Amino acid sequence: MTKYKLEYIWLDGYTPVPNLRGKTQVREFSDFPTLEELPLWGFDGSSTMQAEGRNSDCVLKPVALYPDPARANGILVMCEVMMPDGETPHPSNMRATILDDDGAWFGFEQEYFFFKDGRPLGFPTSGYPAPQGPYYTGVGYKNVGDVARQIVEEHLDLCIAAGINHEGINAEVAKGQWEFQIFGKGSKKAADQIWMARYLLERLTEKYGIDIEYHCKPLGDTDWNGSGMHCNFSTTYLREVGGKEYFEALMAAFEKNLMDHIAVYGPDNDKRLTGKHETAPWNKFSYGVADRGASIRVPHSFIRNDYKGYLEDRRPNSQGDPYQIASQVLKTIASVPTGAEGSVSAAA
Ligand code: ADP
Ligand code: MN
Ligand code: MN
Ligand code: MN
Repeated sequence: MTKYKLEYIWLDGYTPVPNLRGKTQVREFSDFPTLEELPLWGFDGSSTMQAEGRNSDCVLKPVALYPDPARANGILVMCEVMMPDGETPHPSNMRATILDDDGAWFGFEQEYFFFKDGRPLGFPTSGYPAPQGPYYTGVGYKNVGDVARQIVEEHLDLCIAAGINHEGINAEVAKGQWEFQIFGKGSKKAADQIWMARYLLERLTEKYGIDIEYHCKPLGDTDWNGSGMHCNFSTTYLREVGGKEYFEALMAAFEKNLMDHIAVYGPDNDKRLTGKHETAPWNKFSYGVADRGASIRVPHSFIRNDYKGYLEDRRPNSQGDPYQIASQVLKTIASVPTGAEGSVSAAA
């Protein structure tokens, strides 16, 4: 038997942005356990905005497992928060609202800033560094400093060792700003892994004394870029059948549901989606081929391939909850009749 350190990780009830929480349970197993072998667990919801003082127990239900590369015999256990009956999803449990669909694929591009002493890493104590330009995909001390890349690389290695389908990294447009991409097949896969990658990044910052700033416009109304979390998505139907008519009906549904999407695409998005700096105004829906100034970018390959493939919703921001984003995207897709056997069937 081996004693495993099980880190049960969940999202708390803070709004508009939930925080990651975690606590350790030590348990013996003969081998690396399966999801089914892990017990439900509980926590005090009154400390996480998930319950009143009396009657404050909430239940943790394991939903995904990752080996924890930073701990001997460690396991990262992603959990959904359930009501005391263990079966009813807690109102804060947004993962439970995502339609089950193995054919839905998501790729998220998470942007973020490193922050130290209340300003982006590499910014002088007062004023600004040299203007944007050389930082994006840049190299060299004057562009990326002396520690950011070390954290980014360590994070990448941790994610890969944990089995997270990390796809890549790049230095971003603003000084101190970086991006990573995660792709997953299955409606909840990439969203689970974004949260786990965020967890690993947060934990890593403890070692370096540097914070992550996820706010979508940390430098306010300046010429410094904000942070997004572009959501690339496809369904079996979009990849295999598609077609101009279906695509146009889908875009009409995205336009109709504009406010429902913006509501879950992260707070303060009006400060980021101004219509400037390669963004579409938050309150007007648009789409365009290879258009980085549109709400939804249609890749060239999509048109070339008879309107089949994936689409990129550029509106979700860095602070968005990937569970709520995936949930809303699939709801809108499900509202559009496919007229054939689709992966997400038309709503009644
Ligand atoms: P860019 O910065 O030019 O928008 P990235 O390479 O950073 O491009 O991100 C593209 C994302 O699109 C990746 O996360 C990738 O996994 C995702 N993607 C590619 N093909 C599909 C697909 N068929 N369905 C969903 N997402 C996809
Ligand atoms: Mn990208
Ligand atoms: Mn980017
Ligand atoms: Mn993108």
